Amino acid sequence: MNMEISRRGFLAGAGAGLAGTTLGAFGFGDVEAAHAAAIRPFKLANTAETRNTCTYCSVACGIILYSKGDLKKGEKAEIIHVEGDTDHPTNRGTLCPKGAALLDIVRAKTRTLYPQVRKPGSDKFERVSWDAALDRIARLMKDDRDKNFIAKNNDGATVNRWVSTGFLAASATTNETAWATYKVVRSAGMLVFDNQARV
Ligand code: SF4
Repeated sequence: MNMEISRRGFLAGAGAGLAGTTLGAFGFGDVEAAHAAAIRPFKLANTAETRNTCTYCSVACGIILYSKGDLKKGEKAEIIHVEGDTDHPTNRGTLCPKGAALLDIVRAKTRTLYPQVRKPGSDKFERVSWDAALDRIARLMKDDRDKNFIAKNNDGATVNRWVSTGFLAASATTNETAWATYKVVRSAGMLVFDNQARV
């Protein structure tokens, strides 16, 4: 039987179990049954495991998200537990206090869940689709690069610079996606490039 039990709870339970067993030998089997019924079922039973990366810093520890609810059956999926990924080479299952508190981020009412835009002159943000957001970002970047790209400096040397737009990358990423991000940014000529890990 799976069960979640702390060290303190284990010792208390072991003591109660020993007493229950002794009492059971004298005909007190109900004591053992009551003790077994009082132990909570393992809370991660029947959960789905999803591997991810901690969002907080550039260490990029591996995490496992445990969720309940099957989206394919029309159920609402909810993350109920987050812990370090023991198979991840970076952290081997450990998490610092910030990473250990990730569930608070997931459930935060102030968490941004979708793209929003504040139009010129407006005093409020409006929700837009991911496609609309990506199309708009791509359009603005292309227009700005076409207008401000510097192919040669004043001495005629080729520099291929684009200094009128900057890029802020996230740290919650793998080495591979960080490599791809760097290549995209630098190959476009962008010099202003920073990372959330410095925050
Ligand atoms: S668990 Fe801590 S050290 Fe690891 S990525 Fe998250 S914030 Fe950084």
